[in-house]
Amino acid sequence: MSNEKQDKQFVTEITPQSEDFSRWYIDVIKKADLMDYSPVRGCIVFRPDGYEIWEHIQQDLDRRFKETGHRNAYFPLFIPESFFEKEKEHVEGFNPELPWVTEAGGDPLEERLAIRPTSETMFGHMYSKWIQSYRDLPVLINQWANVVRWEKRTLPFLRTSEFLWQEGHTAHETHEEAMEETMRMLDVYTEFVQDFLAIPVIKGQKSPSEKFAGAKATYSIEAMMKDGRAVQAGTSHYMGTNFAEAFDIQFLSRENTQEYAHTTSWGVSTRLIGALIMVHGDDRGLALPPKVAPKQVMIIPIGPPKTRDMVVGRADELFAELKKAGVRVGIDDRADVRPGWKFNEYEMRGIPVRLEVGPRDIENGVCVLVSRITGEKKQVPLENIVAEVQAMLEQVQQEMYTRALAFREENMHVIDTLDDMKAIMEEKRGFFIAGWDGTEETERKVKEETGATIRNIPFQLDVQKDKCLVTGQPAKHTVVFARAY
Ligand code: AMP
Repeated sequence: MSNEKQDKQFVTEITPQSEDFSRWYIDVIKKADLMDYSPVRGCIVFRPDGYEIWEHIQQDLDRRFKETGHRNAYFPLFIPESFFEKEKEHVEGFNPELPWVTEAGGDPLEERLAIRPTSETMFGHMYSKWIQSYRDLPVLINQWANVVRWEKRTLPFLRTSEFLWQEGHTAHETHEEAMEETMRMLDVYTEFVQDFLAIPVIKGQKSPSEKFAGAKATYSIEAMMKDGRAVQAGTSHYMGTNFAEAFDIQFLSRENTQEYAHTTSWGVSTRLIGALIMVHGDDRGLALPPKVAPKQVMIIPIGPPKTRDMVVGRADELFAELKKAGVRVGIDDRADVRPGWKFNEYEMRGIPVRLEVGPRDIENGVCVLVSRITGEKKQVPLENIVAEVQAMLEQVQQEMYTRALAFREENMHVIDTLDDMKAIMEEKRGFFIAGWDGTEETERKVKEETGATIRNIPFQLDVQKDKCLVTGQPAKHTVVFARAY
């Protein structure tokens, strides 16, 4: 049997989430044609519907980056080995995941070239040339690129060996300005992920053991998937002068002294697509928030053969009207496929709103809009179709956020001890809020016994715990523990 046939057979039925969540995830992304496996381990092909989700993410984020003063540039894929030697923590962190080019054009290279896992070193090298005086600061550059990290465990979108992302790299005169930038970009990510992807997130600081290799501090936004696991949806790093010292990014200050610049970096990746699917999807398949959906509305003409031409004619007009208004709309007027089959198909593909129109509707000057997420059906006047569709899309977007937030709240457990965590884990999924004494031993013990790690130290929490869940010592922080992707 050909591979294609096998795949088709594999996903004729979507495994229910409650039976096997990982299997459900793979079934859905394959059946909805978002991706396919490539012949290279850990690398995936983004098929057009998967890639278009990324394009919408890019467009909206790019606008937000530009509104906050950043510009795009492009830096090379290859990084000389010597660059990695300059920042000790950075090289230690990334070395195990680096792929190397040792030969090109038939000859061995004088110096090995890494395929970038991230570009702090390349930006550092260039910034040391471009920055001479405080007048050159701040430098606010972003790039959209692919990067490679040779991951041991991979999962489509969430953790791949090659992934697509953006990486912002900025340089500033002072610690305060760089910290402001670090927080500004964490806020940009938070607003984007919540407003655009309808995913609620927890904003906070990473513990030292989870921070970025070479950073002074790492901040993240963390989201809860429907199986209760966490996904780190974005990170923003304050580097202090670590990279400036390693790459000699010095400038003449206002006081006429030579100073090292303070730098930041921040990134989100195609992992967001995985999060989107795991937060909103259900047993019927994908569910996409309207703002990011490749198709927002699918028109399905219905009714007997004798009225078909009339109905399809009117449906074509609706299609043109919606398209003109900027709605991403599709129409499925195939005569040889039953409407019921089409309903299931577009629900599985996560299209937020379905528009059904039949002969009687047209006589009455109405059609029916159906929400993917609630199943709610609404009869609306055709003369007002653009406004009605836009209102429904807005409502679906809101509803998806509200549902995801309610799910997260339901699955947050405030606990006192590690035993509490283990007992709850036997029956329930979710995030655990607990006191932490600030030691790595505690983190290690929790991880060994439960698989959960500290996701972050939230900036805002309703509860504060005063004792560590493992040692009973005074808690240094109240943190969120969870098993993570
Ligand atoms: P980092 O540079 O490690 O802070 O990562 C930047 C962003 O890329 C974060 O949002 C990570 O969650 C994401 N990311 C890290 N590794 C991978 C991977 N192997 N596949 C997809 N996304 C990743």
